[in-house]
Amino acid sequence: MELELQPLKLPGIEPKRPVVIAGPCSAETEEQVMETATQLAKKGIKIFRAGIWKPRTKPGGFEGVGTVGLPWLQRVQKELGMLTATEVATPRHVEAALDAGVDILWVGARTVANPFAMQELADSLRGADVPVLVKNPVNPDLELWIGGLERINGAGIKRLGVIHRGFSSYDKRLYRNLPMWHIPIELRRRIPALPIFGDPSHIGGKRELIAPLSQQAMDLGFDGLVIESHCRPDDAWSDSFQQITPDVLDFILDKLVVRNGVQSTESLEALRRQIDECDNSIIELLAKRMRVSREIGLYKREHDMTVVQTGRYTEILDKRGAQGVLCGMSGEFMKVIFEAIHEESVRQQIDIMNK
Ligand code: PEP
Ligand code: MN
Repeated sequence: MELELQPLKLPGIEPKRPVVIAGPCSAETEEQVMETATQLAKKGIKIFRAGIWKPRTKPGGFEGVGTVGLPWLQRVQKELGMLTATEVATPRHVEAALDAGVDILWVGARTVANPFAMQELADSLRGADVPVLVKNPVNPDLELWIGGLERINGAGIKRLGVIHRGFSSYDKRLYRNLPMWHIPIELRRRIPALPIFGDPSHIGGKRELIAPLSQQAMDLGFDGLVIESHCRPDDAWSDSFQQITPDVLDFILDKLVVRNGVQSTESLEALRRQIDECDNSIIELLAKRMRVSREIGLYKREHDMTVVQTGRYTEILDKRGAQGVLCGMSGEFMKVIFEAIHEESVRQQIDIMNK
């Protein structure tokens, strides 16, 4: 299904990269909302985010202040002239947020992963003229993400955008949610008119990653950024490790290098030719590696050995991982590459052994 889109057209906001949405993970108190928003407005931020209803992984966490927080967002609109944005997860949230005049709605990652919830949300949005930003689902499933967009769009919402907030994984050593940049890049290729916001706060999960992740989003040509900012981050009731003060946010935005990504210069063409050559060499080398693997498969068949020899596999992963890190690549990337290569080798050997 083709999406029927209109530009986001946010009143008073120039569609200049990056469009910044900032504010606390959660609205906690009227004082915290007003203090944070006032500081952000002083730094030129024009769109204020705050979660009113919070999806929490476990019961017992702070689940948001609920509808009592909506008048606080109205004060932000009236007294500071900012637009407001909040997360909706149920038709009841949609109704309350629309009644209160919230300017932008976003759908959270956990909700987007559930088609029933998305359809209910879409039905409750029918007839409303409000921009909706759809976060990626927690799992790395581009079709599910697009499906969510189709449901909302099918209900007549044409001012749509997406927020790339990374994908859940068991391994949270570096990122809270893995960026898997190829997924938003593929989404851009498939639906070029859809504005993409980066959410470095939820990808990184820590303050020091906000700047590099924001830069990366800009380098990939994303349209905007959603960044969690709190007047007293250490005291935040949710996501305290990843929130930054409006001062720090201003500093980070000031340092961002925003390049105009659409121009293709001659030197860029030359660099792309080099990339093509590298890719060709990689394919030739992989093919050679697979031929050797098949030879090994023959040997194993003749000597009645099993295909997978775990000791050898661990040695390859460890050694290549360390080598890759020395060459400036991430250990995680090396692991993914060599696991994939090993899987294909095993497939080739099983093929030979069964011949
Ligand atoms: C949020 O934006 O505070 C939030 C809960 O995000 P996500 O749905 O990406 O976890
Ligand atoms: Mn949050």
